[in-house]
Amino acid sequence: MRLVNFERKGERCLGALHGETVVDLSDSGLPNDTIDLIAQWDLAKAEHAVGQGSRMPLAGVRLLAPILPRKNIIAVGRNYRDHAREFSDSGFDASEKQMIPEHPVIFTKAPTAVIGPDESIVLANDPTGTTDYEGEMAVVIGRTARNISPEEALDHVFGWTIVNDVTARELQKRHIQWFVGKSPDTFCPIGPVITTIDELPDIGASWLRTKVNGEVRQEAPISDLIFDVPALIATLSSVMTLEPGDLIATGTGQGVGIGFDPPRYLTAGDLVEISIDGIGTLRNTVS
Ligand code: ZN
Repeated sequence: MRLVNFERKGERCLGALHGETVVDLSDSGLPNDTIDLIAQWDLAKAEHAVGQGSRMPLAGVRLLAPILPRKNIIAVGRNYRDHAREFSDSGFDASEKQMIPEHPVIFTKAPTAVIGPDESIVLANDPTGTTDYEGEMAVVIGRTARNISPEEALDHVFGWTIVNDVTARELQKRHIQWFVGKSPDTFCPIGPVITTIDELPDIGASWLRTKVNGEVRQEAPISDLIFDVPALIATLSSVMTLEPGDLIATGTGQGVGIGFDPPRYLTAGDLVEISIDGIGTLRNTVS
């Protein structure tokens, strides 16, 4: 199933995407909030609701972020080898000790940064003018997880989505901790859907591609992750409780703006498109 949130008369509604059709699930008896739905997840009930719901052409629907995180978005830095190298070469990582990390580099993004598909990344929120894109696959946690082994980890995954881990590079560097540079308003586009794990069991087989104004900037298989999804869930859950609806953005591939010399930061009017096989394409303009 591909879950979406969409707008109807100013309200946020739950739906499912079927090809070019959105099924309205808001009157189905399912919880209307994605995190509540995940916490009570019942695939058979959800599929029944999809069979009953009214249908609308996608073209006439405004999609919103498919989930509104209640907590910081967990994110992973330098989790693809080629990107770790380009980032190290850029000299921009104030916290770097070694190029390829021995343990996952983990930080968070503020939930207030979240925007949905087709919304604008607002450059004015980065006073340093060093706004960069990072296409990433994000894990949506489905079940409370504490002390979970890598072998059990996927049982705790609800599904997958796309995150653009938009970053103000100069703020990332200046404040040492990455939180400020990763959290300006509008710097966390999410979507367009959450694909449930039953529909996409092997995320490693999918490829991640980022285009800016139609030019391919990033292209990597998810299987290139240095720390894969089971390793990340095992690491995090060894010390903290992961809860339904928690998001883990798993890191970006080679080809971010800072990797170019001179850097190719985002400018007003740009269009950023991040695609992952089995999930879709997250499109955002830059203003
Ligand atoms: Zn990132």
